[in-house]
Amino acid sequence: MASAYWVKSGKMQIKREKRRMNMELNFYMPTKVVMGRECIARNAGLFSQLGSRALIVTGVRSAKMNGSADDVIRALTEVGISYVIYDKVMSNPTIDCVYEGARLARIEGVDFVVAIGGGSPMDAAKAIALLAVQDISKEELFSGSYDNKVLPMAFVPTTAGTGSEVTQYAVLTNDKARTKTSIASPVIFPTVAFLDAKYMKSLSMETIINTGIDALSHAVEGMLSVKATVMTNILAAESIRRIVAVFPSMKGQMLSDEECESLLYASMLAGMVIAHTGTTAVHSMGYSLTYFKEIDHGRANGLLLGAFLKFVQRNNGKVVKELLELMNMKQIDEFNVLMDELLGEKEKFTKEELLEYARIAIKAKNIPNCVVIPEYEDLVEVYSKSLM
Ligand code: FE
Repeated sequence: MASAYWVKSGKMQIKREKRRMNMELNFYMPTKVVMGRECIARNAGLFSQLGSRALIVTGVRSAKMNGSADDVIRALTEVGISYVIYDKVMSNPTIDCVYEGARLARIEGVDFVVAIGGGSPMDAAKAIALLAVQDISKEELFSGSYDNKVLPMAFVPTTAGTGSEVTQYAVLTNDKARTKTSIASPVIFPTVAFLDAKYMKSLSMETIINTGIDALSHAVEGMLSVKATVMTNILAAESIRRIVAVFPSMKGQMLSDEECESLLYASMLAGMVIAHTGTTAVHSMGYSLTYFKEIDHGRANGLLLGAFLKFVQRNNGKVVKELLELMNMKQIDEFNVLMDELLGEKEKFTKEELLEYARIAIKAKNIPNCVVIPEYEDLVEVYSKSLM
C-alpha cells in the first residue's frame, strides 16, 4: 500500500508517494556461528559446553578425506570428551538411517551430537538428536509435534550449499509420500556451527556447482516467499551477490581459498533466510527429480529455477527484476544460459513422468509459500519447459 506525504522544497510543497515497508519482524537465530581458519581448534572449548560424550554423525567417506573428522576428534580429545562415530549416513538419508543413529546414541549414552559433512549428515544428525531423547514413531516423525527436548548439536558443514547448520529443518527421504519431507521445528536448530572453508578444497567442481546452486536457490526462493522480511531480504541479497560472483570461476578447475570462504558464508546466510521464509515450489518440484532419478538436490533446483522465475515474472515482474539486478542480469534468459553452462547437458523426461511429479509436488507444504502460488498446470509447465 502506498500513502502520500508532503515535503517542502524551497517554497513548494511536493507530494511524494511513500512505499509502506512491512517492518513486522519475527527473527529467531539461536545458532552460534564461528567462522574462520582452524575455527574448530581455536574454539575447542565450545564442545565442553555441550556435554561430555559425543556422537559424531558423518557420511561414509568425505569427513575422513577432507580432515574435518580429524580436526573434530583432536578438539574433543583436547578437552577430554569421549566420542563414538556413526558414519553410515547416505545421501538423501532414510528414516531407517536416523532411527539407527538414534539407537546408537541411546546405547552409547552420548549427551550431544557433532555433525560433519554436507546436507545429508547434517539433516540426519538433527533427526538423530531429536530421536535420541524422544520416543517418536515413524508415522509421527513429520507431524511437527515434538517435546522441547533434544541433544545439543555442533555442526561442521563441509560443503557450501544446504545452510543446514543454521536451520530448523531435517530433510529425509519419505518413501511413503514418494518424495523428500522435512522435520521442521525450532527444537532442532543446531547449538553451534563451525565454518572452516578449508574442508571444501577436496570437493569436486561438480559438487561445488551443485551445492552452490542449492544455496542460490535458497536465497532466491527466500525472496520469492510470502514470509520474506526486510531482514531476510538483506541476507538473501548478500548471499546472491556473493554466489553469482563466484559462478564464473566454477567454469574453471578450482576455486581460490577466498572464493570457497565466500561461498560458505553465502550458503550460511541463505540458510538463515530459509529458516525464516521456508523454500517454495522449486524445492518441492526438485525433490521428485532426486527421489525418482537420483539427480543431485542442488542440480535439481538449478534445472527448474529459470522456468520457475519466468512463471513468477508473469504475475510479479517486480520481484524478479530485483533478483535479476542482484545477479547483474537483465533477462531470465541470461540466467538460463549461466545455468546451462554450469549444469551441462540436461536429463530428459517423458510427459507421463513429469505429470506424476507435478501431482506429487502440488501437495507439498511449501507450494503456498510463494508470492505467486502455482497451480498444478503451472508446475507441469515449469517441469516441461525445464526438462523436455
Ligand atoms: Fe536445498
